[in-house]
Amino acid sequence: MLAGLDPEQRSAVTAPAGPVCILAGAGTGKTRAVTSRIAHRALTGDISPRHVLAVTFTARAAAEMRARLTALGVAGVQARTFHAAALRQVRYFAPRLLEGRAMPELLDSKVRVVTLAAAKVGLRADRAAARDLAGEIEWAKSSLVEPGEYVVAAAKALRDTPHEPAKVAEVFAAYEKLKRGNGVIDFEDMLRAAVWGIEEHPDVAEQVRGQYRHFVVDEYQDVNPLQQRLLEAWLGGRDDLTVVGDASQTIYSFTGASSSYLVDFPRRHRGATVVRLVRDYRSTPQVVGLANAVISQARGAEARLRLELVGQRPAGPEPELRIFTDEPAEANAVAARCRALVDGGTPAREIAVLFRTNAQSEAYEKALTEAEVPYVVQGAERFFERPEVRQAMVALRAATRSIPGETPLPTAVVEGLSAVGWAPDAAPAGGAARERWEALAALVQLAEEYAATPEVLPVGEAAAVERPVTLADFNDELARRAAQQHVPTVDGVSLASLHSAKGLEWDAVFLVGLAEGTLPTTYAKTPEQVEEERRLLYVGITRAREWLWLSYAGARSPGGRARRPSRFLPQLDRSGGGAERAGPGAARRTERRRNQVVSCRICGATLLGGADRKLGRCPTCPSDIDEELYERLREWRQRVAGAQKVPAYVVFTDATLTALAERKPGRTEELIAIAGIGPRKLGLYGETVLALVEGAAVDDVCPEKTFEIES
Ligand code: ATP
Ligand code: MG
Repeated sequence: MLAGLDPEQRSAVTAPAGPVCILAGAGTGKTRAVTSRIAHRALTGDISPRHVLAVTFTARAAAEMRARLTALGVAGVQARTFHAAALRQVRYFAPRLLEGRAMPELLDSKVRVVTLAAAKVGLRADRAAARDLAGEIEWAKSSLVEPGEYVVAAAKALRDTPHEPAKVAEVFAAYEKLKRGNGVIDFEDMLRAAVWGIEEHPDVAEQVRGQYRHFVVDEYQDVNPLQQRLLEAWLGGRDDLTVVGDASQTIYSFTGASSSYLVDFPRRHRGATVVRLVRDYRSTPQVVGLANAVISQARGAEARLRLELVGQRPAGPEPELRIFTDEPAEANAVAARCRALVDGGTPAREIAVLFRTNAQSEAYEKALTEAEVPYVVQGAERFFERPEVRQAMVALRAATRSIPGETPLPTAVVEGLSAVGWAPDAAPAGGAARERWEALAALVQLAEEYAATPEVLPVGEAAAVERPVTLADFNDELARRAAQQHVPTVDGVSLASLHSAKGLEWDAVFLVGLAEGTLPTTYAKTPEQVEEERRLLYVGITRAREWLWLSYAGARSPGGRARRPSRFLPQLDRSGGGAERAGPGAARRTERRRNQVVSCRICGATLLGGADRKLGRCPTCPSDIDEELYERLREWRQRVAGAQKVPAYVVFTDATLTALAERKPGRTEELIAIAGIGPRKLGLYGETVLALVEGAAVDDVCPEKTFEIES
């Protein structure tokens, strides 16, 4: 077993009984290390598997752990989520603690009771609003905050509360009362019951602690105060605890999770064995390099434990950074590439398209449908299956009766959506309410696109192109899209939010919509919130085994407002790391040049190669060169080079001449934008080149003497 481990993993596996903290980056084999530690200790007779409790945060991860332990020949270990472990324990002890009374029913969702509680305090909450209130209550309970403490705690934690904090506290209190009155408990109550059972009942404590003597927690950076309290109750002052985590992957702080337990572990457990795993067995060195570059910019508490990953796999393709004019173009390009990967033999289930918010999925659902690539939306409903979208479609159908046919389509859609309470002014606070708002905003955006370029003309009206599209046309279009995309699949490209992609991995990963305002979201206001957004990008990048694509659209819809690339995007360093620095000035200049994003002016893709950048387009994109101008420029260059007794390329390279003849700069600013023309050449030849582009003859601009040697 030890042979399959690297030296660091081995030291974690063979560390003596007692506190062990494994600080492991993404793809470094955390699960392999913790499962091997359990197996090694069991097989050497140090411990009995029956006495091990291994906790993770998802059922999927727990199942994975059980499977690996079985494969290592170890049976009998309890590998569970915190919830499952607590529930099992509470069920077991309930008869004793409740003296025969039935165990209260466990609510599987808070939303219904929260809706009632909101009504009790005079707040009308629709489903989305209730979900946000429930999220807030969940945060409070996971953070061990009581209703009476909520206002202060929320202010301290800079919570973006869905209502005035005092009102949320009222709902919270009413919710607790309603629950008690109805004899039901929620998930947090269940965890609290497990804690209370141990803390208040010595006999229960003795039995639980006798059963579980060795503890393992995976993804420890995600632990919240309530779960930590339960872990401490289990331990009862003992310290046979192995924790594994990666502070750089902390992306659930908004639910109350805190990486501080991981970060402070060595301080809280004096003498703990601390092991760092940095060899990345998942991704190519190219992907690893980008991941390192992104996280190297991180600030704050989580960044202090940051580890630089070292890629172990053979080299692979460079990550691609692509920029598109608008979102539909971005989605189409992603779908085309997915198609090519699938055609080339990559199974669709080994590909993922990851975005920041679920509202972004529609464009990709449509594009993949059209490219006939199967897909699965993870952790969310497909766009047209979301309740708010279905409701909106009903409202828009009804609106055709009241809204005059000549109303411009986007206006008609905005008016129609007012029936479901949507207004274009601003997104509301709160995750679920915001998601609903954004889904409906996506419909308005679709209307704008459709009004600009109706893809399918109404049947029989192909000739009447002049007729503006109506709301009825748009409704038909929505119905068509909904029907098209309503093809259930089990095996396909994963469309997932960055949050739900945690812990998963794929051969090819597309990170899309990487524009300011989306990642980081405009709702990330504090430096801490911005850092969590950066970690989201890091989690996304580290999901890729081999192919990684990062893209964003300059505008949401065709002709829309311009957007900037995400501030987290580093420049892809082509030098393979260790770029030599000829001095601070030179380094800064190189950096600046590399930082300048040059896009293909034909297709919009970002150009990375030097020659392509000079040309201003992909070598494969059609050239729109002015042949006559090119010839004149060449003729001029020849004369200048002759006069200066230098080779022609010293004046301008062929690529620069081609770019000039293609782009025909009319002003100095346009001239300097062409790669290969710096301040010096601008001073020497700027005016002449502009004159040539304007149509001047070579003889006019080139009296032999102009270009005397400059030393
Ligand atoms: P994440 O942070 O994304 O959850 P992780 O640290 O849990 O990542 P694993 O999924 O355990 O990473 O490991 C990534 C891959 O590397 C797995 O396929 C695992 O089998 C493999 N691996 C781990 N350690 C080694 C090793 N020493 N030699 C070869 N392969 C390894
Ligand atoms: Mg893992």
